[in-house]
Amino acid sequence: MPKPARRSNPGRSLDPVTITTDLVNGRHLARRVRCTDTASSDLYGWVATWADDHTCDAEMVALLALLDRRAA
Ligand SMILES: [Zn+2]
Repeated sequence: MPKPARRSNPGRSLDPVTITTDLVNGRHLARRVRCTDTASSDLYGWVATWADDHTCDAEMVALLALLDRRAA
């Protein structure tokens, strides 16, 4: 059974995510590059799922884009 189409979600492809692992405490940290939203867990699968399911706050992204343009 096909999953619901999510490719139409605006901003999804524009918001790459980085997942890093803190080797000291063994926690994984996911950070959305554009909206700067973060999540952490000791379960890699959890943060990977969070990153995959994350939907940007459109207002936050617009605000950050505005700040970005002003800084440039
Ligand atoms: Zn985002």
